Amino acid sequence: MSSQWPLFLSSHLAVLAKAMSLTSLGLLYDHTVFPYSTARMGPFETKRLAENVIELRGKSLTVLVQSASVGRGIPRYCQACIDDDLSHYGESYWRRRHNLPFIQRCSIHGELLLALPVKKHSAAIAVTRLPEECDGLVVKELLPDPTASVLMALSIGCLEAMDRREELEWRQEYRQLAERKGYPRQGCGFSSLSVLTAFRQFYGEELLDSAGLNFLPTETNAWPIMLLRSGYEVAATTARHLLVQTFLEHSDVPIPMQMTAPGRKRRDIALEDKLLAREVRRVIAKLPAGTRISVTELLVRAGGWAVFRHNRKAMPRTNQVVQDFRITNFSERQVGRRPYWRKRLGLEK
Ligand SMILES: [Zn+2]
Repeated sequence: MSSQWPLFLSSHLAVLAKAMSLTSLGLLYDHTVFPYSTARMGPFETKRLAENVIELRGKSLTVLVQSASVGRGIPRYCQACIDDDLSHYGESYWRRRHNLPFIQRCSIHGELLLALPVKKHSAAIAVTRLPEECDGLVVKELLPDPTASVLMALSIGCLEAMDRREELEWRQEYRQLAERKGYPRQGCGFSSLSVLTAFRQFYGEELLDSAGLNFLPTETNAWPIMLLRSGYEVAATTARHLLVQTFLEHSDVPIPMQMTAPGRKRRDIALEDKLLAREVRRVIAKLPAGTRISVTELLVRAGGWAVFRHNRKAMPRTNQVVQDFRITNFSERQVGRRPYWRKRLGLEK
């Protein structure tokens, strides 16, 4: 039998392993979310946690499962997998890989997963039925491809990875990635505003909200920027690590946001204008219907408020997009003439 979501939270792991003719470690690594939860922890920490879980000291296993979910962690399954399971085994089971954070589709069948309907205000979800006995609803696809596929591959990789590196090494790697991408420096780290603004744009607020991971780009200690710092402990879940890694590896090169210091190389304002205009258009295109934001907020989200404010006249492309935005449904200060805006912004042919 392959991956199985742990339905045995209240049972003693060693007893269960014996009943399944497995070693405790085999059960832990092959049938629970343990390898995912510990994927970005160091080798010592992972070993200690494994011992705790096996001996069921404290509530290690419950904590473990909670740390492998984000938001409300609603159980998910794939209908095609159920059909396969029923024909092969006579019953279906919960799969780990469907129930990791940010997984929307089945990695085998490619179909959108089904999620159990959850009653409002019910905090914890106990899975007491087999997937075949459930009436799930198709999950909302909050992540576009290729981001969704990249995150899925990384997450499933975590289920299979046995080797461990120190958490600090991962953070060093993220900093190197950010450095290569050209995120502006500020003090001894990166400009938090620049990184955080780009991060929010990359994933979209709806996804971050649904996972309880949203933040303001002006928060200098927001969690994504903490993963780019060194020198002190950061207890970040695997899900947060994978979001940061995927963002740094796959987001576009950031737009410069800092004013260049005097004496430094002259900035190419025409290029910045072009990039910012493109970015603003992209932010507008991603705004959910019904959203109303100010021009300032729009530019902040696009990561170019400071540069635009100081160079408005030298940035005609961005200025044009901003003027067009003012007459859209999205602008707080809408002034009419709306039928043409989508066309003018290049959102429709
Ligand atoms: Zn499937």
